[in-house]
Parts: sequence; structure tokens; C-alpha cells
Amino acid sequence: MTSRRRKTLLFIMVALAALLPPAAFLAISWFQTVHEMDGQLNRYASTVVDRSDEIFGSAESTLAALSKQLEPHCGDATVQALRRTVYESLYFQEATLSANGSVLCSSQRVYDTPQPIDYAENRVVPERGIHISPPVALARENTVSIIIHYRAGDTAMLGLQLNPVLLGDPVRKYAAEDEVTLLVQRNDGAILSQFGFSPTMPADELKGNRVLRQSSRYPIRVVAVGSPTWLLHSWRQNALIFSSLGLLTSALLFVLLLYLARHQFSPGASLHDALVDGQFHVYYQPVLDTESGLCVGAEALLRWQHPQLGLVMPGMFIPAAEESGFIVELTKWLMGRVVTDVAALLKENPRFYVSLNVSPQHFDDPKLLADVKAIFGERVAPNQIVFEVTENQLMNEDKAQEMMKNVRAMGTLLAIDDFGSGYSSLKYLSSFPFDYLKIDKTFVDAIGTESVTAGLVDTIVQMAGQLKLKTVAEGVESPVQLTHLRRLKVNCVQGWLFSKALPTDQFLAYVAANKTYVLGPGAAQRAKYG
Ligand code: C2E
Ligand code: CA
Ligand code: CA
Repeated sequence: MTSRRRKTLLFIMVALAALLPPAAFLAISWFQTVHEMDGQLNRYASTVVDRSDEIFGSAESTLAALSKQLEPHCGDATVQALRRTVYESLYFQEATLSANGSVLCSSQRVYDTPQPIDYAENRVVPERGIHISPPVALARENTVSIIIHYRAGDTAMLGLQLNPVLLGDPVRKYAAEDEVTLLVQRNDGAILSQFGFSPTMPADELKGNRVLRQSSRYPIRVVAVGSPTWLLHSWRQNALIFSSLGLLTSALLFVLLLYLARHQFSPGASLHDALVDGQFHVYYQPVLDTESGLCVGAEALLRWQHPQLGLVMPGMFIPAAEESGFIVELTKWLMGRVVTDVAALLKENPRFYVSLNVSPQHFDDPKLLADVKAIFGERVAPNQIVFEVTENQLMNEDKAQEMMKNVRAMGTLLAIDDFGSGYSSLKYLSSFPFDYLKIDKTFVDAIGTESVTAGLVDTIVQMAGQLKLKTVAEGVESPVQLTHLRRLKVNCVQGWLFSKALPTDQFLAYVAANKTYVLGPGAAQRAKYG
């Protein structure tokens, strides 16, 4: 994935991390509140159903007992019994005896003439059990009562009056506080009692969550409606707790994303992107035989064609690649490119070589040998490849010895790079199986100057000779340096005097043009300017 895509993805993830958890927790808190509210409404409704069953059950058994005990006439015994019923009851205001649609007597009075019952519902004589009439204002009593009737003969019936308020007593005070409306209805919808937040609003118009509980004994049901205000109020309290959790989750996600971003946008990751994007290129700097002037080899050097920064030199990115470990992947890629670019040239010119810089951590990696075999295989002869390693890489002597032995066993050659600039000692040089010694540019620069290091190049070359190492002088920029190096019989030279590192096509053209080119008097000038 490219870094732009990764950035977009990260942006989306950050936005999601910021928005999703609070939104999710708010939604959860909403459902939680609704769930809690439904539970509460169910509890209220059940309580009222139980209460109604208890009251109507009590009415039924009282009336059944009375009907068995009484004659349907308003004698003393009857009136006494009606009075006792009310007196002993917890719920009922009045007990009546009616016949043929008129009240004959009640627990309160005996009528001289039967009192016609105005309200049709209140004239219903149930076949079995009780008939419950919804409350109406009874003109003669000036009360609003539920009437419960029970058959007491062919046309006679016993009745009990019930204050509708009693049905809701156990929950009324909580329900009112909590903004709940409770309705006790007959199954046909007639309202027996309504109380709570909206005691008068028609049932259908009540807004909010509603639950319904059916009585299993009587044809009545209880509807509990939670008002939107209660829901919002409860939600606000829950939301406070849940949104803190949401924010905490967001914060945790941010930390996680930060960690991811640090990893994803690390130098290693951007180098990886650049490689995937094809921004890396291999340049080849010709290495010339000092005697013949023929181009006998090349050093493969990395370049990064950065979309914004232009051509970036290795000094700018190799340290980051080494630090992140990406250098291993990068060098493997470079090996592959070398095969593509110059395998043909190497095959045509068996004495030509290409050198590659191998970083310490790659050189320490036992997989290097397998990588080399896999990448170069039969396509490039092992002895046409030179690994350049710096002196610092030899600090772990045993490991380096082992690796060098294996590399040499494969037939691949070894050069000590930047010789003289590190911590090397003669002991190192003699104990490691190098083929080439690359004289660092600082010593070449000193040639012909007054510098104290001016003579060191002579010593280095002499020493390399004793150790039977081929010498390559790096960074040769002037004819004076070249003349001196020729006099010292340095084997090869590499530097801007001859050529800078070149893109593949230019390098191949350079090789073609310099195959027969011999360094001679004035040749350096021609090489430099021509
Ligand atoms: P190095 O291995 O010492 O490479 C030689 C450097 O000297 C190259 O710089 C080359 O362009 C430069 N050079 C050659 N002739 C002259 C000259 O006459 N005058 C001057 N002023 N410079 C000259 P470059 O390409 O910038 O590479 C710098 C360093 O980056 C290399 O030093 C090497 O240590 C590292 N490097 C380059 N490519 C790779 C690679 O593929 N892998 C690893 N591990 N390191 C690499
Ligand atoms: Ca080098
Ligand atoms: Ca070097």
C-alpha cells in the first residue's frame, strides 16, 4: 500500500476512532435506557394487573357469597348484609341490589320507589361471574365509580361500587413522579381507570414507549406508557456514563492509531513505499584499470528519484534504511536490478565485475548467501560479483570471518571499502580474506597537498601489495592524483575524472565507448572533458 493510501486510510481510521465509539456508546445507552424503561413499565403494569385481579376477585367472591345468602328483596337482612359487606371491605364504597333495571336498595339507603339505572352498561346482568362497567358519574351518588355486577336471580343483580383510583394505588405515587401513564382497560377498550402523567388524554394519543399486560382472570388489561420526557431524562443520565466510556475508547484507539502511524509512517515504511512505487534506481560508476585504462568493473550505487525532492543521494537514505532494517530488502532488490541491467554485459566480458555495497546487518544475516544464490543463480558468475564491506563491519571478528569464508566459498569476491577511514588495523586486514582494498577518497584527496595524510596513500598501497590485495582508488578527481596512483601501480581507479555514477543505459554506452580506451598522457583530460 502506498503512503498516500495509507494516509487516507489512517485519516479515515482517526475519524472513525473519534466518531464511532461515542456514537456507538450513545446508541447503546439509548437502547439500554429504552430497555430499562420497558422493564420499569412492565413492573408497573404487572403490579396494577395483580391489584386489579385482587380487587375484582374480591368483588366476585363477595358478590357470589351475598347472592347465595340473600333473597332478592330489600328486607332488613338484605340491607344489613349489604352494609356489612361495605363495612368489612377494603375497596368498595357501596353495595346495591337491583332488579329490572332499577336499584331497589343499597348499603346506604332503601328506596321507596326503585331508582331506574340511567346508564345502559350498569343495567347489564351477567350470565356468569361479574360484569365490570367503566366509571360514570352517578347522578344519585355524585361519585365516579366502577360498577361490578353479579346475577342474583332472574332479573335481579347485586352490585359493588369501586373508586377507580384504588386500582392504581400501589404504583400511583411512583408512576406520577416518573412521568408514566397507566390505564386499566376492559379488553374492548373501555377505560376503567387512568392515572399518572396524563390522566385524561385519550389512550391512543398518548406518546411514548408502551407496554401491555393482560389479566389472566378477567377481561381486562393494563397499558403503561412512559412519557418521552422521562425517556430523555433517563437517557441523559445514562448517556453521561456511556459517553465517558465512548471517549475513553476513542482515547485508547487514538493511542493505538498513534502507535500504528508511527510504525506505518516510519522512514522504513516510506522507503518501502518508494521501492514499491519504483522510485529507486541503480547507477553504475565505472572502475577503470589503471594500466590499460579499460573499464573493468563498476560499483552499483543507489539513487532515489523522489517525486518532490528530486534525485536523493544514498547518504540521505541509507542510514535510515539501515536503522529500520529495510536495507536488506533494498539490497536484495538492487541485486535483482544488477542482474537485469548488466548480466548480459558480464557474460560477454568474463573479466568484468560489478561491486555491491553490503550493509553490516545484511552481511551478518546468514540468509544473505541463499539470497545471493537465488538472485544471481546461473545468470551471473559468482566471481564477477564483489561485495564491498566497510571496516566497521569486521568488529565482530568471528561472525565476519565465518560469513567471508562462506562468501568466498561461493566464488564471490570481497573488497574492503573506505579503507583507512574506520577502525581497521593491519591485523584485521591480514586475517580477513579480501580480494580488493578500496583506498578511501580522503587519502586520494590528500595526494599532492601539504596535508599530513598526503603520503599515507603510498603506505596503504605498499601494505596492500604485501597482503596481495588488489587496490582500487576511490574519488579520483584530478590528473595529478591519477599520475601519482599510476606511479604507485594502484590496480584500478574510480572517480569523477573518468565518470560519475551513471544510469544503466549511459553506463552501457560508456563501457562500449571505453573498451579500447587506454589511459595515456592527456588521456585523463580527454576522459574528464571529452
Ligand atoms: P561508497 O561505497 O564509498 O561509494 C562511493 C561514493 O563516492 C559514491 O557516492 C560515489 O558517487 C562517490 N564518488 C565516486 N567518485 C567520486 C569523485 O570523484 N568525487 C566525489 N566527490 N565523489 C565520488 P554515493 O553514490 O553518494 O554513495 C555514497 C555512499 O552510499 C556509498 O559510499 C555507500 O556507502 C552508500 N551506498 C550507495 N549505494 C549503496 C547500496 O546499494 N548499499 C549500501 N549498503 N550502501 C550504499
Ligand atoms: Ca562502496
Ligand atoms: Ca568507498
